Amino acid sequence: MRYIEPHAHMVSRVTDDYAAMATAGCQAVCEPAFWAGFDRGGAQGFHDYFRQLTDYEPKRAAKFGLPHYAWLCINPKEAEDMKLADEVLAMIPEFLEESNVLGIGEIGLNKNTRNEMAVLEKHVDLAARHGQLILVHTPHLEDKFKGTRLILDLLAADGRLDPGRVIIDHAEEHTLPLILEAGFWAGITLYPESKCTPARAIDMLEVHGQERVWLNSACDWGRSDPLAVPRTALEMRKRGHSPEVIDRLLFENPKRFLAQCPKFHL
Ligand SMILES: [Zn+2]
Repeated sequence: MRYIEPHAHMVSRVTDDYAAMATAGCQAVCEPAFWAGFDRGGAQGFHDYFRQLTDYEPKRAAKFGLPHYAWLCINPKEAEDMKLADEVLAMIPEFLEESNVLGIGEIGLNKNTRNEMAVLEKHVDLAARHGQLILVHTPHLEDKFKGTRLILDLLAADGRLDPGRVIIDHAEEHTLPLILEAGFWAGITLYPESKCTPARAIDMLEVHGQERVWLNSACDWGRSDPLAVPRTALEMRKRGHSPEVIDRLLFENPKRFLAQCPKFHL
Protein backbone atom coordinates (compact mmCIF):
# COMPACT_ATOMS: atom_id res chain seq x y z
CA MET A 1 0.00 0.00 0.00
CA ARG A 2 0.95 3.66 -0.27
CA TYR A 3 -0.06 6.55 1.97
CA ILE A 4 0.90 10.09 2.97
CA GLU A 5 1.42 11.07 6.62
CA PRO A 6 0.09 14.64 6.50
CA HIS A 7 0.59 15.53 10.18
CA ALA A 8 3.52 14.18 12.22
CA HIS A 9 5.93 15.84 14.64
CA MET A 10 9.03 13.98 13.49
CA VAL A 11 11.55 16.12 15.40
CA SER A 12 10.36 14.31 18.51
CA ARG A 13 10.44 10.80 16.97
CA VAL A 14 13.32 8.34 16.74
CA THR A 15 14.99 7.31 13.50
CA ASP A 16 13.41 3.83 13.66
CA ASP A 17 10.02 5.51 13.16
CA TYR A 18 11.16 6.82 9.78
CA ALA A 19 12.31 3.33 8.83
CA ALA A 20 8.98 1.81 9.93
CA MET A 21 6.92 4.44 8.07
CA ALA A 22 8.90 4.02 4.85
CA THR A 23 8.55 0.23 5.14
CA ALA A 24 4.77 0.57 5.61
CA GLY A 25 4.47 2.50 2.33
CA CYS A 26 4.69 6.13 3.41
CA GLN A 27 5.36 8.41 0.39
CA ALA A 28 5.76 11.77 2.15
CA VAL A 29 5.62 13.20 5.66
CA CYS A 30 4.37 16.68 6.60
CA GLU A 31 5.28 18.36 9.86
CA PRO A 32 3.31 21.30 11.30
CA ALA A 33 5.02 23.57 13.84
CA PHE A 34 3.69 22.99 17.34
CA TRP A 35 4.37 23.08 21.10
CA ALA A 36 7.61 21.38 22.12
CA GLY A 37 6.17 20.00 25.37
CA PHE A 38 7.58 23.04 27.16
CA ASP A 39 7.40 26.79 26.53
CA ARG A 40 10.38 28.07 24.55
CA GLY A 41 12.54 30.72 26.20
CA GLY A 42 12.04 33.33 23.45
CA ALA A 43 11.74 34.05 19.75
CA GLN A 44 15.26 32.71 19.09
CA GLY A 45 13.99 29.27 20.14
CA PHE A 46 11.44 29.45 17.31
CA HIS A 47 14.10 30.57 14.85
CA ASP A 48 16.10 27.45 15.70
CA TYR A 49 12.96 25.30 15.47
CA PHE A 50 12.07 26.69 12.02
CA ARG A 51 15.61 25.94 10.84
CA GLN A 52 15.21 22.41 12.16
CA LEU A 53 11.90 22.01 10.27
CA THR A 54 13.21 23.45 7.00
CA ASP A 55 16.81 22.26 6.94
CA TYR A 56 17.80 19.43 9.27
CA GLU A 57 14.60 17.33 9.43
CA PRO A 58 14.18 17.06 5.62
CA LYS A 59 17.72 15.67 5.46
CA ARG A 60 16.96 13.13 8.21
CA ALA A 61 13.80 12.01 6.35
CA ALA A 62 15.63 11.84 3.01
CA LYS A 63 17.88 9.09 4.41
CA PHE A 64 14.76 6.89 4.30
CA GLY A 65 13.64 8.11 0.88
CA LEU A 66 10.88 10.22 2.42
CA PRO A 67 10.12 13.74 1.16
CA HIS A 68 9.59 15.98 4.23
CA TYR A 69 7.37 19.10 4.22
CA ALA A 70 6.74 21.67 6.97
CA TRP A 71 4.14 24.19 8.13
CA LEU A 72 5.11 27.22 10.21
CA CYS A 73 3.49 29.23 13.03
CA ILE A 74 3.56 29.87 16.75
CA ASN A 75 1.25 27.29 18.32
CA PRO A 76 -1.83 28.45 20.29
CA LYS A 77 -0.37 27.32 23.63
CA GLU A 78 2.56 29.73 23.43
CA ALA A 79 0.53 32.37 21.55
CA GLU A 80 -0.94 33.43 24.89
CA ASP A 81 2.20 35.63 25.12
CA MET A 82 1.27 38.32 22.56
CA LYS A 83 4.70 39.95 22.44
CA LEU A 84 6.39 36.63 21.72
CA ALA A 85 3.71 35.84 19.13
CA ASP A 86 4.38 39.11 17.28
CA GLU A 87 8.14 38.42 17.24
CA VAL A 88 7.60 34.92 15.85
CA LEU A 89 5.04 36.09 13.27
CA ALA A 90 7.56 38.65 12.03
CA MET A 91 10.18 35.97 11.27
CA ILE A 92 7.84 33.57 9.41
CA PRO A 93 7.85 35.31 5.97
CA GLU A 94 11.59 34.68 5.45
CA PHE A 95 11.03 30.94 6.06
CA LEU A 96 8.03 30.79 3.69
CA GLU A 97 10.61 30.95 0.88
CA GLU A 98 12.07 27.57 1.91
CA SER A 99 11.47 24.78 -0.59
CA ASN A 100 9.68 22.41 1.83
CA VAL A 101 7.26 24.91 3.45
CA LEU A 102 3.63 24.31 2.47
CA GLY A 103 1.83 26.93 4.52
CA ILE A 104 0.81 28.29 7.91
CA GLY A 105 0.05 25.73 10.65
CA GLU A 106 -0.89 24.27 12.93
CA ILE A 107 -2.60 27.41 14.10
CA GLY A 108 -5.86 27.45 16.04
CA LEU A 109 -7.04 27.46 19.61
CA ASN A 110 -6.10 25.65 22.80
CA LYS A 111 -8.17 27.15 25.61
CA ASN A 112 -10.25 29.47 23.39
CA THR A 113 -8.86 32.64 25.04
CA ARG A 114 -9.01 36.20 23.72
CA ASN A 115 -5.23 36.27 23.10
CA GLU A 116 -5.35 32.98 21.21
CA MET A 117 -8.11 34.39 19.01
CA ALA A 118 -6.08 37.54 18.31
CA VAL A 119 -2.99 35.55 17.30
CA LEU A 120 -5.08 33.16 15.19
CA GLU A 121 -6.44 36.17 13.30
CA LYS A 122 -2.90 37.46 12.69
CA HIS A 123 -1.83 34.07 11.31
CA VAL A 124 -4.85 33.93 9.00
CA ASP A 125 -4.00 37.43 7.76
CA LEU A 126 -0.38 36.40 7.16
CA ALA A 127 -1.52 33.33 5.20
CA ALA A 128 -3.98 35.40 3.13
CA ARG A 129 -1.39 38.06 2.30
CA HIS A 130 1.18 35.43 1.23
CA GLY A 131 -1.27 33.08 -0.54
CA GLN A 132 -0.49 30.20 1.81
CA LEU A 133 -2.42 27.01 2.62
CA ILE A 134 -3.67 26.84 6.23
CA LEU A 135 -3.65 23.92 8.70
CA VAL A 136 -5.76 24.44 11.83
CA HIS A 137 -5.53 22.65 15.18
CA THR A 138 -8.79 22.37 17.16
CA PRO A 139 -8.82 22.19 20.98
CA HIS A 140 -9.01 19.01 23.01
CA LEU A 141 -12.09 17.35 24.48
CA GLU A 142 -14.47 19.73 26.29
CA ASP A 143 -13.15 22.83 24.48
CA LYS A 144 -13.38 21.26 21.03
CA PHE A 145 -16.93 22.09 19.95
CA LYS A 146 -16.82 25.73 21.06
CA GLY A 147 -13.28 26.16 19.69
CA THR A 148 -14.19 24.67 16.32
CA ARG A 149 -17.20 27.01 16.05
CA LEU A 150 -15.05 30.05 16.91
CA ILE A 151 -12.46 29.01 14.31
CA LEU A 152 -15.07 28.41 11.59
CA ASP A 153 -16.67 31.81 12.26
CA LEU A 154 -13.31 33.58 12.17
CA LEU A 155 -12.30 31.90 8.90
CA ALA A 156 -15.68 32.49 7.28
CA ALA A 157 -15.47 36.19 8.15
CA ASP A 158 -12.25 36.58 6.11
CA GLY A 159 -13.43 37.06 2.54
CA ARG A 160 -9.94 36.42 1.14
CA LEU A 161 -9.87 32.72 2.05
CA ASP A 162 -10.85 29.80 -0.17
CA PRO A 163 -12.19 27.10 2.22
CA GLY A 164 -10.77 24.45 -0.13
CA ARG A 165 -7.27 25.63 0.83
CA VAL A 166 -7.85 25.28 4.59
CA ILE A 167 -7.80 22.01 6.56
CA ILE A 168 -9.23 21.84 10.08
CA ASP A 169 -7.64 19.01 11.99
CA HIS A 170 -8.49 16.78 14.97
CA ALA A 171 -12.14 16.60 13.88
CA GLU A 172 -14.43 14.26 15.79
CA GLU A 173 -18.01 13.03 15.46
CA HIS A 174 -19.53 16.30 16.68
CA THR A 175 -17.29 18.66 14.67
CA LEU A 176 -16.69 16.83 11.34
CA PRO A 177 -20.10 17.72 9.81
CA LEU A 178 -19.71 21.42 10.77
CA ILE A 179 -16.32 21.61 9.07
CA LEU A 180 -17.38 19.82 5.89
CA GLU A 181 -20.66 21.74 5.55
CA ALA A 182 -18.69 25.01 5.69
CA GLY A 183 -16.62 23.83 2.69
CA PHE A 184 -13.33 23.21 4.49
CA TRP A 185 -11.19 20.09 4.47
CA ALA A 186 -11.19 18.05 7.70
CA GLY A 187 -8.43 16.02 9.33
CA ILE A 188 -9.07 13.07 11.64
CA THR A 189 -6.30 12.27 14.10
CA LEU A 190 -5.69 8.66 15.16
CA TYR A 191 -4.41 8.46 18.71
CA PRO A 192 -4.08 5.49 21.05
CA GLU A 193 -5.43 7.43 24.08
CA SER A 194 -7.28 10.68 23.41
CA LYS A 195 -8.62 11.72 19.99
CA CYS A 196 -9.85 9.04 17.59
CA THR A 197 -9.33 5.27 17.16
CA PRO A 198 -9.18 3.68 13.68
CA ALA A 199 -12.60 2.08 14.26
CA ARG A 200 -14.21 5.41 15.19
CA ALA A 201 -12.56 7.16 12.24
CA ILE A 202 -13.95 4.60 9.79
CA ASP A 203 -17.41 4.84 11.40
CA MET A 204 -17.32 8.60 10.84
CA LEU A 205 -16.28 8.24 7.20
CA GLU A 206 -18.97 5.62 6.57
CA VAL A 207 -21.53 8.19 7.77
CA HIS A 208 -20.13 11.41 6.29
CA GLY A 209 -18.24 10.17 3.20
CA GLN A 210 -14.55 10.66 2.53
CA GLU A 211 -14.46 13.69 0.25
CA ARG A 212 -12.18 16.44 1.60
CA VAL A 213 -10.91 14.32 4.52
CA TRP A 214 -7.44 13.12 5.48
CA LEU A 215 -6.25 10.85 8.28
CA ASN A 216 -3.10 11.45 10.29
CA SER A 217 -1.24 10.10 13.31
CA ALA A 218 -0.13 13.51 14.70
CA CYS A 219 2.63 11.49 16.37
CA ASP A 220 4.70 13.61 18.76
CA TRP A 221 6.60 13.33 22.05
CA GLY A 222 3.59 11.81 23.85
CA ARG A 223 2.04 8.35 23.57
CA SER A 224 1.20 8.21 19.88
CA ASP A 225 1.65 5.84 16.96
CA PRO A 226 3.54 6.87 13.80
CA LEU A 227 1.94 3.86 12.02
CA ALA A 228 -1.64 4.78 12.94
CA VAL A 229 -2.54 5.57 9.30
CA PRO A 230 -1.45 2.22 7.75
CA ARG A 231 -3.00 0.39 10.73
CA THR A 232 -6.30 2.08 9.83
CA ALA A 233 -5.91 0.74 6.28
CA LEU A 234 -5.77 -2.75 7.78
CA GLU A 235 -8.95 -2.06 9.74
CA MET A 236 -10.65 -0.82 6.55
CA ARG A 237 -9.66 -3.97 4.69
CA LYS A 238 -11.18 -6.06 7.50
CA ARG A 239 -14.45 -4.17 7.01
CA GLY A 240 -14.44 -4.91 3.29
CA HIS A 241 -13.33 -1.54 1.87
CA SER A 242 -11.62 -1.98 -1.50
CA PRO A 243 -7.93 -1.16 -2.10
CA GLU A 244 -9.09 1.69 -4.39
CA VAL A 245 -11.17 3.29 -1.63
CA ILE A 246 -8.30 2.98 0.84
CA ASP A 247 -5.82 4.47 -1.64
CA ARG A 248 -8.12 7.39 -2.36
CA LEU A 249 -8.51 8.20 1.33
CA LEU A 250 -4.93 7.70 2.53
CA PHE A 251 -2.95 8.77 -0.54
CA GLU A 252 -5.01 10.65 -3.16
CA ASN A 253 -6.93 12.86 -0.71
CA PRO A 254 -3.91 14.34 1.13
CA LYS A 255 -2.08 14.62 -2.20
CA ARG A 256 -5.00 16.57 -3.71
CA PHE A 257 -5.06 19.04 -0.81
CA LEU A 258 -1.28 19.43 -0.43
CA ALA A 259 -0.59 19.74 -4.18
CA GLN A 260 -2.46 23.05 -4.11
CA CYS A 261 0.96 24.28 -2.97
CA PRO A 262 3.20 23.97 -6.06
CA LYS A 263 6.16 23.00 -3.86
CA PHE A 264 4.47 19.68 -2.98
CA HIS A 265 5.40 16.96 -5.42
CA LEU A 266 5.99 13.22 -5.12
ZN1 LIG B 1 0.08 18.40 15.79
